Amino acid sequence: MEIPMHRFRNNSRAIALGNPAWDKAKESHLIDLAVRVGENDRLVMEDGFEFINFSSCSYLGLHGRPELLEGAVEAMRREKVWDVSISRIRIRMTLLDEVEEEMAKLWRARCICSPTASAATLGLLPLIASGHLLPDGKPPVMVFDKYAHFSMNLIKPICGDETEVLTCPHKDLDYIEDACKKYPRVAYVADGVFSLGGAAPVRELLELQDRYGLFLYFDDSHSLSLYGKHGEGYARALLGDELSPLTVNVVSLCKGFGGSGGVVMLGASHLADLAIRWGGPLAWSQKLGTATMGLALASLRIHGSPLLGELQGQLLKNLELFDSRIPTEQSGDPFTIRLVVVGDEEKASEVSGEIFRRGFYTSPVFFPIVERGKAGLRVMIRADNDPADIVRFCDAIEELVPPRD
Ligand SMILES: *Cc1c(COP(=O)(O)O)cnc(C)c1O
Repeated sequence: MEIPMHRFRNNSRAIALGNPAWDKAKESHLIDLAVRVGENDRLVMEDGFEFINFSSCSYLGLHGRPELLEGAVEAMRREKVWDVSISRIRIRMTLLDEVEEEMAKLWRARCICSPTASAATLGLLPLIASGHLLPDGKPPVMVFDKYAHFSMNLIKPICGDETEVLTCPHKDLDYIEDACKKYPRVAYVADGVFSLGGAAPVRELLELQDRYGLFLYFDDSHSLSLYGKHGEGYARALLGDELSPLTVNVVSLCKGFGGSGGVVMLGASHLADLAIRWGGPLAWSQKLGTATMGLALASLRIHGSPLLGELQGQLLKNLELFDSRIPTEQSGDPFTIRLVVVGDEEKASEVSGEIFRRGFYTSPVFFPIVERGKAGLRVMIRADNDPADIVRFCDAIEELVPPRD
């Protein structure tokens, strides 16, 4: 009997296609950089070269705030251990309850912390595939968005062992609706805000949920903290007062939030025990450490205070400044990711290298991350960028990126 392979992934093909660009980036010293953190948002290399990171995901600059450091140190002083080192199913520190309760209040959902967002996805998608997180317990057909983050795509083969798995064109609502008409249960898996810019059509997806009972799985790691009154993120902000039992929203705490770990916002709160017990690493992997939890509480205090809105406003101002100089497909988006298209792959590396020599880091992106012929620079703007630095950065882009028609 022939065993079907490569239905969902093909390392040989992906590595053969993608690795030359990585090798080239390494040769040009654009990856694999070791730095110390210097003053005024500068990163410093061993030889003293200083640069500003315009590809950082700490969108509100919370990673550098003294309140967070204090929170981490204070929690360590109080608890005196990093963890009690046993599965959370059995024993957990009350500090974890404090963190999850505070998150639940601010983000209006049952919140379960996980080692990372990726670990939460690894644990939960197979339970959705088998129907255990669905109200009627029956397996849905899973529809993954073509541009779903790596952390979700990676789990397709496991889901494919439980149910049928399909991949739909990016944000193709007609495709999703057709699937809803064809199959009794459908679960759509996508980013809230996509890593390469743009957001899921959350309102339209909610209509499909109303009409057909569409199950929704969002990974909204990119918009946590920078969007919503309490930083609940783009998807959560649009998902209504109460999260539907047909919705799961997962986020990472290592981006805008300024910490580390992940969080599951679960609509079906009565299924929390099942999700933890059977959610793979939610049960058997490490929990957030004491310092991480103390830091999270400090960040949550900011999320519940007027400072959050001020930082979000500062971010929007900085984005406006960037957009006023460098037009991109994402211009005007309230999310921070901008793709400056260069076109040719070699040229994209070259431009990124030259911009770096002027003291600004931006990641070059290539096929298969972006379409062929659309290689370019992935820029992220932050609330804590000095506007004068943004202006100098834009000067460099304007001078070095060839104009496109
Ligand atoms: C950054 C990112 C992740 C990784 O988050 P971890 O908490 O480190 O696993 C996962 N999904 C998306 C969409 C991301 O942008």
